[in-house]
Amino acid sequence: MKYVLKSSPRRTPRLDFAADLNAEQRAVVEADPQPLLVVAGAGTGKTRTLTYRVARLIASGCPPSRIVLATFTNRAAREMIARVQKLVAMDMRPCAAGTFHHVGNRLLRQYGELVGIAPNFGILDPEDCRDLLGSLLAELGLDKLRSRRFPAAKVIFSMVSLATGTKRPLEDVIRQRFDKFVDQTPTLVDLARRYEARKRKLNVVDFDDLLRGWHQLVTETPVHRREEVLGRFDHVLVDEYQDTNRLQGAIADAMAETHRSLTCVGDDAQSIYDFRGADVSQMLAFRERHPDGQVLSLTQNYRSTPEILALANRSIAHNQEQHPKALRTTRRAGPRPALLALRDVYQQAEFVAQRVLELHHEHGTALREMVALYRSHAHSLELQVELTRRNIPFVVRSGTRFFEQAHIKDVIAFLRARNNPRDELAWSRMLQLWPGVGTQTAARLAQRLSDDAHPVPARNAFAETARSGQPRARESMQRLSTLWAALEAAAGAGPAEEIRLIIETHYAEYADRNFPNAPARREDLDNLARFAARYESGTALLSELALLEGMVGQTVGPGADPDDKLVLSTIHQAKGLEWPQCFVLWLANGKFPTPRSQRTTKDMEEERRLFYVAATRAADELYLCYPTLDDAHDGPVRLMRPSPFLAEIDHPPDVFERWEIEETPP
Ligand code: ATP
Ligand code: MG
Repeated sequence: MKYVLKSSPRRTPRLDFAADLNAEQRAVVEADPQPLLVVAGAGTGKTRTLTYRVARLIASGCPPSRIVLATFTNRAAREMIARVQKLVAMDMRPCAAGTFHHVGNRLLRQYGELVGIAPNFGILDPEDCRDLLGSLLAELGLDKLRSRRFPAAKVIFSMVSLATGTKRPLEDVIRQRFDKFVDQTPTLVDLARRYEARKRKLNVVDFDDLLRGWHQLVTETPVHRREEVLGRFDHVLVDEYQDTNRLQGAIADAMAETHRSLTCVGDDAQSIYDFRGADVSQMLAFRERHPDGQVLSLTQNYRSTPEILALANRSIAHNQEQHPKALRTTRRAGPRPALLALRDVYQQAEFVAQRVLELHHEHGTALREMVALYRSHAHSLELQVELTRRNIPFVVRSGTRFFEQAHIKDVIAFLRARNNPRDELAWSRMLQLWPGVGTQTAARLAQRLSDDAHPVPARNAFAETARSGQPRARESMQRLSTLWAALEAAAGAGPAEEIRLIIETHYAEYADRNFPNAPARREDLDNLARFAARYESGTALLSELALLEGMVGQTVGPGADPDDKLVLSTIHQAKGLEWPQCFVLWLANGKFPTPRSQRTTKDMEEERRLFYVAATRAADELYLCYPTLDDAHDGPVRLMRPSPFLAEIDHPPDVFERWEIEETPP
């Protein structure tokens, strides 16, 4: 349906600022067009205020097509736009709303030619980009050079992307963030140049080009053409400004150069994307770039109970690098955040599942009103298993479900092939992980190994391939053969031991070469091994996993709403969102914060901001959980301490309610 505004645009009955906004929020909504930065803590209505500002601009006669609204996700943009549409009863589709990439794409389709991009350009997703880089590496013979000293395509892609996003030369990015490849700088710079040339030749752009192209369009084209683009818009608004990178910041500035109407909202205490090139310092330097601008704040929190807010405030106060913000609560008192020392990760998962069911059945809380948050994907593993066992529907928002991730599937493929030699797919996946073994060789060998009619011992087949193959394949097959012997010898020791062997002998190195976030992936794999230690045989483990995939999305009871699902999310993905009930998992020292982040104050502070983001997602109840025993698969059981983020806010000891778990005999 298309809405047409018939009456005078000023008379929009649903737009009642006095009822919907407080005085501080109204000041932002009603401020004259100018560079405006709103710095405010979590849950103070930044997103709501930005939404109302858009509504007000439209109600005062600005056509939706003359507004740019940049958000963290396209979903967030859709929600804001839907709200505006309700408020002003007007078709908002012409509004340029979405992520920076989304809006950039829209503009380049129309004006791309001004910066040498044909309007029918194709867009490469990150996986395509890595493939393209991979083929360039092959053409230059650099793939043969693949050793620990030369990065894989994925890593090169991260470097190039960071350089674009932070507007720094590639050389600097390599030196600062990828210093182990510094020796290779000239080759990498040359490669990046070829990558650019190849994209042009193919008439394709990557995500970063959408930003860079947009930036060029509004800064480097002849003035009269540039003004044609800039003249199409009257207002620019940006949500989650603390996590924009320098290129995005520069785009927002340039877009507002003529009309000066730029509204940015953000919370420096919630900047958590430094690793991807976000730059909170441009928020802090807003006034330097816009001396005519204003900085406003919002101080009333509408989301969380005073108890939850007290905890969040006390935590963030431990950061040196922060702009103190006094948050006042508007909500009535609720329960104090619950602190749960659980026996181990399994009890942690049981607790969450059980409490979720209680809240759902006894208190009528919808599943979608609850979230389990964690630092990294791997931390949701046991919970995913437990929820599946109990038939509690859940959705994993942090991306792929744990067991569907490439590195997990890779390692599992070894076990599948070991346990069921007829599994041709498993063979093929596993074989392709070895240098020098291409798709064809892998397919041929996989077929042979899985041929039930003519069974051949795997090690013989590897040895034969080694004899006939190229030197690199030969070396790979010899190593695989050694690994297989070790796996056979370890057969009685259980799947955890097999996984450990696979990682040590081969996969750790493979991960280093192929994934920019190799340390995180290796951590996942350690978790997988730990998880596997519960199973006596590979078959038992594999059937549990198969079941897990098949059983997703069952209902908790008759007549249940099929869309009602518990949300599982990393904290990074939960930015800007809120839930009445919020569980934070794995708050143990060494897990959250990660050991890596404990090395520098800067990283530790980013990690604490992450904790702050987690705590401030909760509206009514917050459950902070940590396991006390870490039964590492390859060592003694370790006693774990609570996260320093919990310990440091525990005096005076009035922020938490300590919950005891009563052990009922099985
Ligand atoms: P975050 O920092 O997490 O992004 P935020 O500052 O963007 O949070 P919002 O998400 O806009 O905050 O608002 C938090 C909650 O408070 C929402 O449920 C919102 O509807 C509510 N809220 C904000 N302002 C008001 C108000 N004046 N009256 C009633 N509810 C409000
Ligand atoms: Mg927000």
